Amino acid sequence: MAKRVIVIGSGIIGASIAYHLAKAGAEVTVIEAGEPGGVATRASWAWINASWGNPEPYFELRVRSIEHWHKMQSEIPGLAINWCGGLIWDLPPDELEAYAAERAKWGEPLRRVDRGEILAIEPNLTTVPEFGYFAPGEGMLEPLAATLALLEAAKALGAEVLAETPVKWLAEEHGRVVGVMTDVGVIHADETVVAAGVNTAPLLDSVGLTLKMSAPAGLLAHSKPAPKLLNGLVMTPGLHIRQTAEGRIVAGTDFAGADPEGNAEFMASDLQAKVEAMVQGAEGLGLDFYTVGYRPTPADGFSAIGRPHSKNGLYLVVTHSGVTLAAALGLFAANELLTGTRDPLLATFSPDRPSLT
Ligand SMILES: Cc1cc2nc3c(=O)[nH]c(=O)nc-3n(C[C@H](O)[C@H](O)[C@H](O)COP(=O)(O)OP(=O)(O)OC[C@H]3O[C@@H](n4cnc5c(N)ncnc54)[C@H](O)[C@@H]3O)c2cc1C
Repeated sequence: MAKRVIVIGSGIIGASIAYHLAKAGAEVTVIEAGEPGGVATRASWAWINASWGNPEPYFELRVRSIEHWHKMQSEIPGLAINWCGGLIWDLPPDELEAYAAERAKWGEPLRRVDRGEILAIEPNLTTVPEFGYFAPGEGMLEPLAATLALLEAAKALGAEVLAETPVKWLAEEHGRVVGVMTDVGVIHADETVVAAGVNTAPLLDSVGLTLKMSAPAGLLAHSKPAPKLLNGLVMTPGLHIRQTAEGRIVAGTDFAGADPEGNAEFMASDLQAKVEAMVQGAEGLGLDFYTVGYRPTPADGFSAIGRPHSKNGLYLVVTHSGVTLAAALGLFAANELLTGTRDPLLATFSPDRPSLT
């Protein structure tokens, strides 16, 4: 008989888990407090990358996820990913060289590009350095559209999505999680997966489990739509930019974004001014809107995936860089839930590691 699995949360992580579970034959119900498509996911810059600052196991997980996104793209017709590559010089030159050397050592070299090559890739940039690096394997997607495509693919495989249905707490019987409590009562399942982003810790708390998390804020400025001015992702000091499928240039400041602290409007206008100075053809384009999102982040910054405290019936997946990692984490979670086999790449990402409990 098919395993009945509840997935709490329909952001990009829950959607990928639901898709992989349904594909493997599970009977899946996604339960979502609001509209399908996530919260952090909607506010994401949505850069698919294995960029700097990652220890090797996290780098390898990201590389594996990038590979798996390609496979998913071939399986899911509505899933649009632009494998445009990324230009990067948002580190001081010596650190940039050290990062490139590390990538080469790990078998994923970057291409060193001089000023002329940078301008061949992005002819509209007004300010470019002597050299940078190009990561040809990086990509971007439109996060809400991609997540809805994953949910549609899961539904086509039999999954059900219950929107506007907040889970109040995890339902427990004799030490086992047996489902979730909602406004319409308990919904039962053999397995319950928490993919609830920043709300993961409070849900675990309802069965007495602890997961230390933070939720750093990040602001993105969206310009009014423009004709095509950028070909891919551009990471410069203090300004990360990409152009969306509908023509908006989306700008953030760095990986961590920046905490708006009541200053969001000013920060968004400032970012937009930087975009207009940096991209020829964007002058006078104007800010359309900005978003402030909160990154679901385990306390040490790395993914948490697995059965917390070996709790029967319960599994969790929470991570920053979820747009990059959703492909692999969805696949690995479904495999572990349905076969009991844990992917070796997850060795250091247990939710029970000391930094999180
Ligand atoms: C500004 C910013 C920039 C980012 N840039 C990048 C980037 O360039 N590349 C990258 O890889 N990642 C990036 N990220 C991170 C990435 O967006 C997140 O890691 C990812 O979206 C997390 O997805 P999620 O599904 O876990 O969370 P969410 O999208 O937040 O989804 C969780 C869902 O669970 C639901 N939920 C919560 N509690 C309950 C409950 N009690 N009952 C029912 N449903 C519930 C919520 O309503 C929500 O829909 C960025 C994030 C931000 C904020």
